[in-house]
Amino acid sequence: MSDTQPPVMIAESDIRERVAELAGKISADYADKGELVLIGVLKGAFIFLADLARNLTIPRAIEFIAVSSYGTGSKSGAVRLVMDVRGSIEGRHVLIVEDIVDTGNTLGYLIGILESHNPASIRTCTLLHKANHTKVDIDIDYIGFEIGDEWVVGYGLDYAEQNRTLPYIGNVTPTD
Ligand code: 5GP
Repeated sequence: MSDTQPPVMIAESDIRERVAELAGKISADYADKGELVLIGVLKGAFIFLADLARNLTIPRAIEFIAVSSYGTGSKSGAVRLVMDVRGSIEGRHVLIVEDIVDTGNTLGYLIGILESHNPASIRTCTLLHKANHTKVDIDIDYIGFEIGDEWVVGYGLDYAEQNRTLPYIGNVTPTD
């Protein structure tokens, strides 16, 4: 697929507004808890994490974790850890920041990995949620937008590495 401009599904201004709302809620929830460690899931969450972190009003630290799916193309498969967090999260409050939760396999796997590092708490945040697809029973504490079956790109999300830096969420679902 070429790096063309797909149709807008969620506009840049709506994303900006929602990210600010989420950051406000997170800041309020963690107001008395000291530093929050945001763990961005590479690569898709890097833009969301950057904007969310800059909207927080509480002390925060940034970590990244990387996973890859054994599945090919757009299908989710078993998950493999590619890069663990660098800093220690033991005894610290952790927020996993995901771009999108589809089946929930990735988030379920990450919670398991991060629990083994003994943090004080783990919560989860995702910009997008495909509720109809989610099979794994996990609590998602902060959700930006619920979406349907569309394949979306932009604001960090790609299709075959294309369209990651679009400022909005676009729909590239094949129509055939
Ligand atoms: P899971 O099924 O484990 O919840 O999601 C696995 C991964 O599939 C997500 O982290 C994301 O990388 C990818 N994914 C699922 N749906 C979409 C989509 O609509 N667009 C893009 N770009 N990635 C998606």
